[in-house]
Amino acid sequence: MTFDIQRAGQIDRASLFHPFTSVADLMRDGPLVMAEGKGVRLKDIEGRSYLDGMAGLWCVNLGYGREDISGAIAAQSTKLSFFHTFNGLSTDVAIECAEALLRRAPVPMARVFFGASGSDANETQLKLIWYYNNLRGLPKKKKVIARWNSYHGSGVATASLTGLPGMHGLFDLPQGPILHISNPHHYRKAPEGVSEREFSRQLAAELEALIAREGAETIAAFFAEPVMGAGGLIPPPEGYFEEIVPILRKHDILLVLDEVVSGFGRLGTYWGSQRFGLEPDLITAAKGVTSGYFPMSVCFVSSKVWDVIEAGSEKAGLFGHGYTYSAHPVAAAAALATLKAIDQEGVVENVARLGPYFHTAMREAIGDHPLVGEVRGLGFMMGIELVRDRAAKTPFAPELRVGRKLLKDLFGRGLISRALGDTMVFAPPLVATKADLDEIITLFKAGLDAVA
Ligand code: PLP
Repeated sequence: MTFDIQRAGQIDRASLFHPFTSVADLMRDGPLVMAEGKGVRLKDIEGRSYLDGMAGLWCVNLGYGREDISGAIAAQSTKLSFFHTFNGLSTDVAIECAEALLRRAPVPMARVFFGASGSDANETQLKLIWYYNNLRGLPKKKKVIARWNSYHGSGVATASLTGLPGMHGLFDLPQGPILHISNPHHYRKAPEGVSEREFSRQLAAELEALIAREGAETIAAFFAEPVMGAGGLIPPPEGYFEEIVPILRKHDILLVLDEVVSGFGRLGTYWGSQRFGLEPDLITAAKGVTSGYFPMSVCFVSSKVWDVIEAGSEKAGLFGHGYTYSAHPVAAAAALATLKAIDQEGVVENVARLGPYFHTAMREAIGDHPLVGEVRGLGFMMGIELVRDRAAKTPFAPELRVGRKLLKDLFGRGLISRALGDTMVFAPPLVATKADLDEIITLFKAGLDAVA
């Protein structure tokens, strides 16, 4: 620490441009400044302790302060701190990492393409989709469908793809060939009395109608998170993917599964694809691949796409896309240590075992609370939607900022959550124990009672 702890907040406000932050709130309230982490716990610069109910930003899946991962990072930085993979060059550790990831893919995949963030990976996926259809001689087949409330990143193309209008407005994003359709939010969007199955059929009919209107020959791909995360924690209703996928197949539309949050165990299966029996053509991963210890993203490319790229390569020439830090050797070393720990420590099994308990116990504790409309999610991914009137599902007026108030109360109790509007989210590290989950529930209930 090179500055006075008391002044940290002041210096932060004067120097740090925070992502996804209201500048007005920051100026009013100041930042919460973390300094240390061990296991599922954090400590701020004033020594207060927190249980991290969000695994950082859905990424520190194996917990903080692990010497296996930080040791692998240190060793690789000393051995070979950087070399790249442009122009056919490579590194031993990048090769080992690519192979290790392919071995763990949910369905056979042909290649992995590396980047440094979920956003850059989804930018890569978009470019791959367009490149693929150009090589196939289908230059009109370029439109991409995403869902409202999806989150796919913050780049120019990926923020357009993301279905959160707040990320479009003042940035003048080009909408380009992106089409948005309804999200599968049963609690909020299904007409009264419509079952999950029926709602899924209605959403499939909407997709069919969109494809018919635009022309299947113009539509290249459909993007989906297995469980929608940052857009409000929305799990698919029963039968959703079973209805959607055959439509995509019928119309030669690629399925791109954004597993940036759901990959590496969060839903109690290694991949969200497996949780829903999906066979995606492209998969995006990031976050948990290094447990957040080092930036890395991964695009898994199926042979359906790869074979076209390989066959067209002589004619197409150089594949003109990539990042300096694609397959960064230190990231690759962090990923290898993470993958090993996931296998050896039964991390996915921990979520499979405790996920159902977490949801049941949370519902028992707060399911009837007057502020709680719905508790939803899967595995270690939970959303709790706060409402003004449970029976009528009436939301609070946004200007009341009930979610933010509760969030601040929880911070004061030593619990890290996240407020997506008035939906409170928990996505704890995948190594959390039953006692950790119980503590989340106890602290959350106390916070709810306090703001009620
Ligand atoms: N895709 C999903 C599903 C995400 O949740 C996120 C980030 O939260 C991203 C993509 C973007 O990842 P990044 O913030 O690393 O760019």
